[in-house]
Amino acid sequence: MDFSYSPRTDELVGTLETFMNDHVYPAEKIYDAQIAANDNPHEQPQIMRDLQTKARELGLWNLFMTHDGLGAGLTNLEYAPLAEIVGRSIIGNETVNCSAPDTGNMEILAMYGTEEQKQQWLKPLLDCSIRSAFAMTEPDVASSDATNITSTIRRQGDEYVINGRKWYTSGVLDPDCKLMIFMGKSDPEGPTYRQQSMILVPSDAPGIEVVRDLPMFGFQDRLGHGEVQFTDVRVPAANMLGAEGDGFAIAQGRLGPGRMHYAMRAIGMAERALEMMCQRSLVRQAFGGPLADRGVVREWIARSRIEIDQIRLLVLKSAWLMDTRGNASARSEVAAIKVAAMEVAHHVVDRAVQTHGAAGVSNDTILARLYAITRALQIADGPNEVHLRTIARLEVKKYR
Ligand SMILES: Cc1cc2nc3c(=O)[nH]c(=O)nc-3n(C[C@H](O)[C@H](O)[C@H](O)COP(=O)(O)OP(=O)(O)OC[C@H]3O[C@@H](n4cnc5c(N)ncnc54)[C@H](O)[C@@H]3O)c2cc1C
Repeated sequence: MDFSYSPRTDELVGTLETFMNDHVYPAEKIYDAQIAANDNPHEQPQIMRDLQTKARELGLWNLFMTHDGLGAGLTNLEYAPLAEIVGRSIIGNETVNCSAPDTGNMEILAMYGTEEQKQQWLKPLLDCSIRSAFAMTEPDVASSDATNITSTIRRQGDEYVINGRKWYTSGVLDPDCKLMIFMGKSDPEGPTYRQQSMILVPSDAPGIEVVRDLPMFGFQDRLGHGEVQFTDVRVPAANMLGAEGDGFAIAQGRLGPGRMHYAMRAIGMAERALEMMCQRSLVRQAFGGPLADRGVVREWIARSRIEIDQIRLLVLKSAWLMDTRGNASARSEVAAIKVAAMEVAHHVVDRAVQTHGAAGVSNDTILARLYAITRALQIADGPNEVHLRTIARLEVKKYR
C-alpha cells in the first residue's frame, strides 16, 4: 500500500496551498462584506470572480472533473487531497469551479448529454460563465425516497410540459443560474424505477416562479435555496437528458461522485476546526493556565486527530475503488464516507465551538457556519439513515 501522492497531485497540492494562503483565506471576510454590500445577496461578489481568474491562471480549475478532456484530468484519488484543501475554506471550492450543485450537474451532462446539450450547457458551466441548479426534492413528499416524487414531465408534440413544486433547489437564486436540471415523472404508470426522467430547463422559461428563499439554520446562503413552482413550463423535446425513464439511473450517477466530494471537503472543514481549536486553546487562559493544558481539551484534540485520520483513509479507499472498479463497486464505501465524514466533521466543529466559548457561536469566526453546514449535510444529498440503509442492505446480502 502506497500512501504517497502522484507527482501531479504533489505539484497541485503545493500550488493550491499557496493559493489558499495568499489569496483565499485573506478573502473570506472581504467576500462576506461584499455580499452584505450587494443589493442582491445572491449575486456573485467581485472578489470571487477575481479569485476564479487567479485560480484559472494557476491551472487550478475543474479539478473534480474526471471525464477525459474536460477538466484537469485527475482521478478521484488524485482529486481527494485537493478537495480537502479547498474544503478548509467555505469559499474554497467555488474559487476553483468545484462547487455543488454545478459539479454534479456537469458530471451528468458529461455522462448523458447530447453534443448539442454539452455545447449549450456543459461548456459554459466548465467556463463558469453560467451557474445551474438541481431540482429534485419536493416539500410535499418524503424525497429521501425519490420514487415519491410527484412532479410531472408530459410530452406534447415537440415539447415537454413540466408541472410541480420543488424546494431546497440550491443555486436557483444566483442571477447567474441559467439552467435547472429537473426530475419528475414522465411515465407514472411505468415500472417504479423507470417512471422518472430528468430534463434541462432554462431558468428563465415562462411558468417558473421562485416563491421562497429558504435559509439553512438561519443562514442565508449566497447560492440561495429556493422553493420553486413550475406551472406548465414548456421546453423542447430535445431537452430530455438521456432517454425518457432514465431519471433514476442518472440520479444515482450524479450523487455517487458528489457524495465523495462532500466527504473530502468535510475533512478539510474538520482540519480547519481542529487547527482553530488548538490555536484558541493555547492563547485562552482560565483557572491559572491555557485551555490547552486541560485534560478534557487535550482529549478533544487527540480524539479529533484520530477521527479525522480514520475518515481520510476511508475516503481515499473509496476514491481508489471508484477509480479502479467503478462507482457501483464503491457503493457501500461511498455511503459510509457520506455518513462518517459529516458526523466526524460536525463533532470536531462542535468541540471547536465549545473551546471558543461564546465566540464559537458568534459570527466572528467561521465555526458557526461550519456547524450549520456539517449538520445540514447530514440531510442534504440523502439523509444519513438512507445511506446506513444501503450499507446494511449490502452487508446483510452477503449472508442471505
Ligand atoms: C442545505 C440543503 C441543500 C439542499 N439542496 C438540494 C438541491 O440542490 N436539490 C434538491 O433536489 N434537494 C436539495 N436538498 C434536499 C435534500 O436532498 C433532502 O432534504 C433530502 O434528500 C431528504 O429529503 P426530505 O427533506 O424530503 O426528508 P424526508 O424524506 O421527509 O426524510 C425525513 C427524515 O426521515 C428519516 N428517514 C428517511 N428515510 C429513512 C429510512 N429509510 N430509515 C430511517 N429513517 C429515514 C431521515 O432522518 C430523514 O432526515 C437540500 C437540502 C438541504 C438541507
